[in-house]
Amino acid sequence: MIAEKLLFHVLIVLMPILVVSFFVDGRKEKQSKTVLIVLLTIASIFCMVFSYEEKGLHWDLRYVLLLLAFLYGGRKAGWIVCGVLLVTRTIIDEDSLLIGYLVILAASIIFHCAYYSYQLKVQKWDRVRFSLRLSLWPSLIIVTLVGVYLVVTGDLETEIGQYITYVIVFTSTLVIATGFSILLLEQLKERIRMQEEMQRAVKMNAISELAASIAHEVRNPLTVVKGFLQLMEKDEQGKKKEYFSIALSEMKRAEEIINDYLNFAKPQMVSSKTLEVNQVLSEIINILTPYSLKENVELTFASTKELFINVDRNQFKQVLINLIKNAIEATPKNGNVHVDLKKDRTLVKITISDTGEGMSAEQLAKIGTLFYSTKEQGTGLGTMVSFRIIEDMGGTLRFESKLQQGTSVTIILPLVQIVQNEKAIKNNCS
Ligand code: ADP
Ligand code: MG
Repeated sequence: MIAEKLLFHVLIVLMPILVVSFFVDGRKEKQSKTVLIVLLTIASIFCMVFSYEEKGLHWDLRYVLLLLAFLYGGRKAGWIVCGVLLVTRTIIDEDSLLIGYLVILAASIIFHCAYYSYQLKVQKWDRVRFSLRLSLWPSLIIVTLVGVYLVVTGDLETEIGQYITYVIVFTSTLVIATGFSILLLEQLKERIRMQEEMQRAVKMNAISELAASIAHEVRNPLTVVKGFLQLMEKDEQGKKKEYFSIALSEMKRAEEIINDYLNFAKPQMVSSKTLEVNQVLSEIINILTPYSLKENVELTFASTKELFINVDRNQFKQVLINLIKNAIEATPKNGNVHVDLKKDRTLVKITISDTGEGMSAEQLAKIGTLFYSTKEQGTGLGTMVSFRIIEDMGGTLRFESKLQQGTSVTIILPLVQIVQNEKAIKNNCS
């Protein structure tokens, strides 16, 4: 009897998710979330009204709905559902109220604490595993409390067989319902994200085509103005010279943004050549040292023995500049940005680590998506372009980060094995 009732409850639990899945098309994530919370609240009332009742004890799957409300609606939504559960429990039955209250409150506190850890989990299966473990908690609390209750009332000996059956049926339906719900909700979230991404992509496509042609047109007059400014700067003295250098540096920034953009919108001609990595890195460090000094960040580089890679020089330099500049920008005064070069069997690993602000798991997941930036004057193009360039080079780009501790970015590229006499030729050429 209890098994049938609880299977019916699995249906009640899944109902809100199914209804929301019909509703989501063409709607924003926030709207769907509100509908989900309302439906979870209604379903939790249904769960309690149709619970399996015996001797004042109510067996139902309200905890799954409570868990979903906390994990997917946020802590506020979770406590709303908790309040509704407490009120409903009071109204439907006055027997064993204390046990009912205790389990609901204890489960809510556990879910409240688990909320943050859950948000940090990025992988779908990590989330499923975590929530399954969470769903065992209410079961554990109920088993303990009901056990104690039976001992106190002296019914344990007569009821032990039935008690064990109930515990097994209850725990397994609870876990199954949680697993199914989380899987469905994760799929739903993925669908909403894809829809939003698609809508954005369609919009962006039209805008980017337009912007690419404008950027291209703007670049030419910019170069002319920059040239004239440089000429005029030479003849000026004092305050005016300072103005010129400000104008020139802003011009350079505008040019950088346009180049970044064009590089993203229109792939440029690439010519791959074999390069020595230490040499390119030293060059980039020299270019960026004045910038790091201005920002009061120490920029260090540990060179190794010669390592060769086969890449387009300009694009490779652009990636390094983008990533090291980001590291410097993320690092507070007196911090450190370190560039490390290593050979790992057939690979070259360049790691740029900083002692900066770092990123949360959510921010980390967004890295490299179009126009994602947390800076006031950011474009969100740097990492996007870098990912694309490195992938085109047959390599990979990896970000690892801890909030408030720092970020380390690793560029992994295939190593080019060079025989001794070829190396001599390369050195002579460069
Ligand atoms: P922009 O620098 O214009 O903001 P990017 O694509 O270069 O665009 O970077 C996107 C975002 O990624 C940055 O706004 C920043 O929030 C984050 N980011 C990139 N590198 C780091 C880093 N080393 N430390 C912390 N955050 C970073
Ligand atoms: Mg940047």
